[in-house]
Amino acid sequence: MTEVKEKKVEDIKKEAEENIKCPVNKALYYIREFLAGPMCGKCFPCEMGTYEMAIRLQNIVEGMATEIDILSIKRIAANMIEASMCKKGKDTAKFIMEWMDAGVFHEHISGRCPSRECKAVIEYIIIPEQCIMCGECQDACEYNAIVGEKKKPFLSGYAPFEIRQKRCVKCGDCVFVCPTEAIVIVDVKTKETVGV
Ligand code: SF4
Ligand code: SF4
Ligand code: SF4
Repeated sequence: MTEVKEKKVEDIKKEAEENIKCPVNKALYYIREFLAGPMCGKCFPCEMGTYEMAIRLQNIVEGMATEIDILSIKRIAANMIEASMCKKGKDTAKFIMEWMDAGVFHEHISGRCPSRECKAVIEYIIIPEQCIMCGECQDACEYNAIVGEKKKPFLSGYAPFEIRQKRCVKCGDCVFVCPTEAIVIVDVKTKETVGV
């Protein structure tokens, strides 16, 4: 029987650094992997602390957090550095603090993920004035998330196409096919454009 080797905390950190752009997402990935592997549960500050961190990080990526979540993560990390029994717990807290230094944790609270990885804080929308009702986006959307009727030259009175937010999985496929750059990404809370 082949033995499954436990990941080292440094390896998990490296994976997060190499594969994920958003520091909040990196921290969440790291904590989940830490909980699934190296975290042994022998001491309270690390065991309880990392579970609570995971919940609060999840809140942040889902756009449901407040500044209290950030303060709590900092408090937990400080406790872990102080009181964890082994280096794995202390290093974990240091890695999380490092990612928090980037400042984007606060941006998430106001509804913005600068890397656009935390999908709960963004929406894809169609700018009505730029939509020529060609239907390319509707054909490209595998989730049937776009409503609208293709324009025919002999008819008038068409409404621009629209994205149904409840169906949209934010894959971005529609953006690439739109000939007029009518589809943009906006902050859920502010409705300001954050990119295309
Ligand atoms: S600090 Fe070390 S000993 Fe304590 S729970 Fe975490 S991994 Fe286990
Ligand atoms: S982002 Fe993806 S799911 Fe959403 S409307 Fe565009 S193609 Fe459809
Ligand atoms: S691809 Fe662009 S222009 Fe065409 S219907 Fe969709 S949003 Fe409108």
